[in-house]
Amino acid sequence: MKVYNFSAGPSMLYDEVKAEAQKDFFDYAGSGMSVTEMSHRSKPYEAINAEANALFRELMHIDDTYEVLFVQGGASQQFEAIPLNLLKAQGSKADYLVTGNFASKAASEAKKYADVYVAASSKDKNYTYIPKTYTFRDDADYAHFTYNNTIFGTRFNAVPQANIPLVTDISSNILSEEIDVNKFTLLYAGAQKNIGPSGLTVVIVKKDAIGKHLPICPTMLSYQIQADNQSLYNTPPCFAVYMAMLTLRHVKKLGGVKAVEAHNIAKAGLLYDFIDNSALYTNKVAKEDRSRMNVPFVTGNEELDDKFVKEAAKAGLVSIKGHRLAGGMRASIYNAMPVEGIKTLIEFMKKFEIENK
Ligand SMILES: *Cc1c(COP(=O)(O)O)cnc(C)c1O
Repeated sequence: MKVYNFSAGPSMLYDEVKAEAQKDFFDYAGSGMSVTEMSHRSKPYEAINAEANALFRELMHIDDTYEVLFVQGGASQQFEAIPLNLLKAQGSKADYLVTGNFASKAASEAKKYADVYVAASSKDKNYTYIPKTYTFRDDADYAHFTYNNTIFGTRFNAVPQANIPLVTDISSNILSEEIDVNKFTLLYAGAQKNIGPSGLTVVIVKKDAIGKHLPICPTMLSYQIQADNQSLYNTPPCFAVYMAMLTLRHVKKLGGVKAVEAHNIAKAGLLYDFIDNSALYTNKVAKEDRSRMNVPFVTGNEELDDKFVKEAAKAGLVSIKGHRLAGGMRASIYNAMPVEGIKTLIEFMKKFEIENK
C-alpha cells in the first residue's frame, strides 16, 4: 500500500534513494557484497565515508576550519558529549535556551558537568513560542539552542545573538534550509529526520574547539579521537552513512539546499494556510515561530483528534498522531515528503471537517 508517512522520525526517505539502495543491496559497486557486510576498513567503504563527508561540506558550505564527524548514539548522546568536549573545566559555565523537550534534556544532561544557566525558556506556554529576549553570560563556555523544535513545531527564525561560542541541535532541520555554519562552533543532528536511517549522528565542529575535552570525557565521545580517525575509530554505522551519501547525492541533484528550502517553504505554506482558514483545525504556535518541518494541529476535541488519527491512517496518511507532550496531531513534512503528500492530507482534512461538523 502506498502511504504518506508523517512520522517525526525515523521518517520518509526519497524514493530515488530507496531504489538506489535496493539496486545495490546484493552487489555494491562490483564488490559482490552489500554495504551491510563490508569491512569499514575496505576501499569501497572508505570511499563512501569520504564522499558523504565531502557532500556534507559542499551542500552546507562547510570550510576546512571545521571537522565533519560521523558518530553514533543519536543526537541525545551529543547532549553529554557537548559539555564533555567544550567545557574549559568541570563545573564551568554553559548557557541554554529551553524551547522544548529536547532542549530541556540537553540542559539536564549538561548539568552533570556544568554550571548551567537557562537564559530563556518557553515552558510557560507549553513551548508554543520562541523567546526573543535573553542574554548569555559573557564568561560561559558556550550557548546551546535547538534550531527546530520537533515536538512542539517551533523554529528559530534568526540565529541568537551571542558573544560566546554557539552550539545548535539541527536534528530536524538539517539540509532543509540554508544555515550559516560559520556562526557556530558546533552543529549536530541525528540522521533519521532529513538524512537517512537512524544510527548516524553528524557533528560539525570548529577544529580549534576540539582537543580540549575534559579528562573524564569517554574516548568514544571525544571529537578529537573521532577527527583523528576520520570517524573510523571503531566500527561506524556503515549502512546509515551509505544511505546518507545517497540522500546527499539526491539533494545535490535537486539543486542543493537552497532549492530544497524553497520547496519546503511552499509545502509548509500550503498546510498552514489551510489550517488558518479552517473552522475546525488550529495550530497553537506563535505565527512567526512556526516550524517548516513539524506542523502540530488540533481540533479542540481530544476524541475527534483520535478519530482523525485513525481515519487518516486508513486513508494512507500514517503516523500523524501528535507527541504525547503536545497532543492532537503533528504532520512532519521533512525534505522527502512530496507536495502531493501535503495536498492529499489537506483533501483528507477537508473531508473530515465536513463529515464531523
Ligand atoms: C529527534 C531529535 C532528537 C533526538 O534524537 P535521537 O537521535 O533519537 O537521540 C534530539 N533533538 C531534536 C531536535 C530531535 O528532533
